[in-house]
Amino acid sequence: MAIPQCDPKAACLRRRTALDAALGRVLDSGEYILGKECAAFEQEFAAFLHSPHGVATGSGTDALELCLRACGIGPGHGVATVSHTAVATVAAIERTGAIPFLVDVARDSFCMDPRALEQVLDQDRRCGKTIRAILPVHLYGRMADMTAILDLARHFGPLPVIEDCAQAHGAATGQRLAGTWGTAAAFSFYPTKNLGAFGDGGLAATGDDTLAATLRQLRQYGWQERHVSQRPGINSRLDEMQAALLRVMLGDLEAGNRRRVAIARCYRQAITAPGVTLPEEVAGHVYHQYVLRTPRRDALRDHLAREAIGTAIHYPLPVHLMPAYRGRLPGHDRLPQSEALVGTILSLPMFPELTDRQVSRIIEVINQWL
Ligand SMILES: *Cc1c(COP(=O)(O)O)cnc(C)c1O
Repeated sequence: MAIPQCDPKAACLRRRTALDAALGRVLDSGEYILGKECAAFEQEFAAFLHSPHGVATGSGTDALELCLRACGIGPGHGVATVSHTAVATVAAIERTGAIPFLVDVARDSFCMDPRALEQVLDQDRRCGKTIRAILPVHLYGRMADMTAILDLARHFGPLPVIEDCAQAHGAATGQRLAGTWGTAAAFSFYPTKNLGAFGDGGLAATGDDTLAATLRQLRQYGWQERHVSQRPGINSRLDEMQAALLRVMLGDLEAGNRRRVAIARCYRQAITAPGVTLPEEVAGHVYHQYVLRTPRRDALRDHLAREAIGTAIHYPLPVHLMPAYRGRLPGHDRLPQSEALVGTILSLPMFPELTDRQVSRIIEVINQWL
């Protein structure tokens, strides 16, 4: 029995008939960019979030970039973010011309450590006041400590806070969903995310009417009316096919997240292998990834591979140690947790279509490991 770490095709097969119908509807409509499907998806996703505005984009990276630009971030500004993340977070900041200031993560949450953020902001206040925004990442489906981060944003600014929600569709703290805490938020619909398209896609969410209007301009050449640019913009649109497919998949998001939580609970209750630290069980976590820690990570990974169980490492290198960024981003020499984590983390299979039998098999193989 081969078990993959993730399986976007399984989600496709489960909804194949509805997906085919959605594609057919778009092909027959004669409208392929920024039409009815995109508008409907934006409304439906914003309603899901309880957020006033959703502005769909071509990717999650673009959504991050446009959120930053809409908040006035540009060349020479600093943006506080983490190094233990998908590289897209940092790449989006640099695309605006701004400088990523790296902040360490807390070991147990894998997310931005508010105490480390306070130190970075405090130091920045004393020399230069370069930092103009904070960009926390809700990594693996668990929310960063938004209460503490928003407090710091008010204290040191007020600074805009842009949430990277690419791994946190439906994640929450209390009753309030990820993507409704900050000034603006970026979602990705890359196929393996909790809500995935069948290609690229993204969305910027905000509660601010002016920001939403700016985002709509920025994603299409800065246009308000056609052919008249109000500001320099880019081309980053969600096409009608992806929008129509995403409307189908959105209907499954909450059930998919519940299934992820149930799988995480099985892992939590039954994995007993010594030397393995399991992620904390936290309300509102939607387990985009289930990431355990063990000092003998490579050995466990090999053991699972021998039994045909797929795993992954998210991520093998923190951004500040990648060749493209090494040594040149502020804060890169003060990230002890980010550096200590990477050699110990392992992502187990996690997707809603995993069967109970497969979950039991994964647990059994891990518990056999010596
Ligand atoms: C996937 C991801 C992104 C980028 O999204 P794309 O749609 O691939 O551009 C950004 N941040 C994080 C944390 C991600 O996981």
